[in-house]
Amino acid sequence: MPAEHTPSQAPGKTQRSAIGSFLVIASVLAVALVAMLVMQVVQGGDASSGPVAKVTSYGEVVAQLPLDKDSRQVVVCDEGTNTVVVEDGAVHIEDADCSGGDCMKQGAIDQPGNLLVCLPHQLIVEIVPAERAGSREPSVYTGREQVGADDIDVVAR
Ligand SMILES: [Zn+2]
Repeated sequence: MPAEHTPSQAPGKTQRSAIGSFLVIASVLAVALVAMLVMQVVQGGDASSGPVAKVTSYGEVVAQLPLDKDSRQVVVCDEGTNTVVVEDGAVHIEDADCSGGDCMKQGAIDQPGNLLVCLPHQLIVEIVPAERAGSREPSVYTGREQVGADDIDVVAR
């Protein structure tokens, strides 16, 4: 309590230093926040920069599995189920109850454009580049355009 009474002798000075420390804290927080956002964007960009296994069932995309992350997706349709597994950067159909099980015999794929097809279940697993699967690419292109515009400006002078 006594500490709050003493500053009344020089209120202007106290107020200014209070604002100053507030600004310091605010700017530190802002920098930390921006750094976190940048980290998230960079990490997200990395995650979507690799190819993705797009799983389509009866013409509908039911899953998009990044190949750089091991995962397992069970796709259920009226005819039965397929278990799509991403492992070591490649995707394969591990289990299926279709007749013949041809989709399981197709092995693992890891290149964009490669396909796994289960005809009886109308299931397609297609590897697509991240540009088509992700939505963060446009920001990268904007950056390149800005760099290009700067170059033109410098040349004009
Ligand atoms: Zn099959």
